[in-house]
Amino acid sequence: MKLTLCELEEQLMGSSDLPSAADIEIAAVRIDSRLVKKGDVFFCIEGENFDGHNFVQQAFDAGAVAVVVSQFMPEFEDKPTIMVKDTVQALGRVAAYWRMKSHARMIAVTGSAGKTTVKEMLAHVLSGSGSVHKNFMNLNNQLGLPLSMLEATGEETYWVMELGISLPHDMGELGPIAQPDMAIVHNIGPAHLEGLGSLENVADQKSSLFKYIRPEGVALCCKDHELLWEAANKISKPVPFSSQDENAEYYSTLLHTLPDGSGRFLIKAGEETAEVILPTCGSHFAENAAAVTCAAHQLGMELTEIAERLATVELPKQRFHCHTHGKWTLIDDSYNANPLSMNRAIDTAKRIADDRPLVLVLGDMLELGEEAGCAHCDLGSKIAETKPDATFYHGKHYSEVASQTNGSTLVPVKQPIEFLNGIHELGLSDAVVLFKGSRSCHMEDYFYALNNDI
Ligand code: ATP
Ligand code: MG
Repeated sequence: MKLTLCELEEQLMGSSDLPSAADIEIAAVRIDSRLVKKGDVFFCIEGENFDGHNFVQQAFDAGAVAVVVSQFMPEFEDKPTIMVKDTVQALGRVAAYWRMKSHARMIAVTGSAGKTTVKEMLAHVLSGSGSVHKNFMNLNNQLGLPLSMLEATGEETYWVMELGISLPHDMGELGPIAQPDMAIVHNIGPAHLEGLGSLENVADQKSSLFKYIRPEGVALCCKDHELLWEAANKISKPVPFSSQDENAEYYSTLLHTLPDGSGRFLIKAGEETAEVILPTCGSHFAENAAAVTCAAHQLGMELTEIAERLATVELPKQRFHCHTHGKWTLIDDSYNANPLSMNRAIDTAKRIADDRPLVLVLGDMLELGEEAGCAHCDLGSKIAETKPDATFYHGKHYSEVASQTNGSTLVPVKQPIEFLNGIHELGLSDAVVLFKGSRSCHMEDYFYALNNDI
C-alpha cells in the first residue's frame, strides 16, 4: 500500500499534527500486535476475548509508526496515537479512502452459500486478463474486508472481494467500503437468520449491495431465486445469470460426473457455449460457474478464455470435494452448512450415489436463531425423503432432526471413532459418503477418519 501517515490522519481526524507525518509512508495496517513490523500502523480493536488497547506498547516496541485508539491513554501521550470514536469504523474509512485512490476495478461478491468459492474461481479466471488481488481466505466482514483491501498494492487491475453479512446493518457498512464497480449476488438461502430474521430480509439485505455500486458500475444477479430477483430489481436492473434456465444469456449446468469425482460443466454466454472440467461434481456449483462466466464476460473476456482459465481452477478445500477410493466416494463438504447448502449437498450426493449405498455424516447448522428448531426438523424430513442407507449425526440438534426422519435411523455420534465403528458395522464396500455441518462441528475430522481408514 502507498498511504502516508498524514493521509491516514486526515481521513480519521480531518487534519494531521503528527511531526513530519507527510513523509512517512505506512508499510501495513495491522490489528494483531504480534504481526506489527517497522513502519506499520496498529489499530486497537476491542474484541470478545482481547482488547487491542492492551497491546499498544508491544506495537510501538515492534516499530509501529502510529497507533489508532478509541480510549484515552495518558501513558502514550507523547507517542503518535490517533484518537477516534470507533476503531472498526476508522479502519473501514481508511480502506474506503484507499479504494478511491486505487485504480483497480472492485468486484464484490455476496450470497448465502459459495462466496469464497465464487471469489476464488473468479479471481483465478480474471488473472488471465490482468493482475488480481482478493481477500485472504474468508476475511469478509468489517475487519476482514478493509484489511484485505489495505493489503493491495493499488496497482492491480482487479480486486475480487467477498462480503459476508449476518446482521441487518452489515451491508450498509461493507458496501460503502467496497464501492464496487461490479456487484454479484449469486444466491440466497436461510442463513444467518439469527441476525437477519427471514428469507425476505436475506434477499433485501444481500441485494442492497447494489446500492453501493459506483456510477457506470454493473449489477449481476442469479435469477433462479425469486425473492432475490424481485428484491434486486427494486434497486437496479441487474444482468441475470442462471443454472436453471438454459435460455438465459449466462447459464451453466453440470453435464456429467467423471470417475475421479470431477465434473464436466457447460458454460454459456450469449450464443456461445463451452465445456469445462471443474474439480467438483456438485451440480450446485453450476450456479457459481454461471456467476463467474457472467462476471468475466461482462469484464471483456471471451468465453474460450474463460473456459481455459476455469479448467485450471483449484477450489478452496472442504467445498464439495469428491474423493474416490476404489468403489468408495467420499464427499468432503465440511467447510460450512446452512439449509440451502445442506439440501443441495444431500440432493447431489443422492444423485451421485445412484444405485450405490448413500451414507450421510451430518452436523448442526448454526446461527439460525429462532428458525433453528424448524430448520433441523426440515433436515429430518429431507433425510426421510432421501432415504439414505445410514445417517450419522453430530450436534445438539440431534433430537429435532431425529423427530422427523420417519423411521430412517439417525445414529448420534460425538467422536469420529464412534462413526468409524458404526460405518464398518454396516459392512459396506462401495458407498457414497457425504460429510457436512457448520464450521464449528469440524465434520472434516469425520472425513479424515474414514479417508485414512479405507
Ligand atoms: P461463509 O459464509 O462461511 O463465508 P461462503 O458463502 O463463502 O461461506 P463457501 O465457503 O464457498 O461459501 O462454501 C460454504 C459451503 O457452501 C461449502 O460447503 C460449499 O460446498 C457450499 N457451496 C458452495 N457453492 C454453493 C452453492 N452455489 N449453493 C449451495 N452451496 C454451495
Ligand atoms: Mg466465505
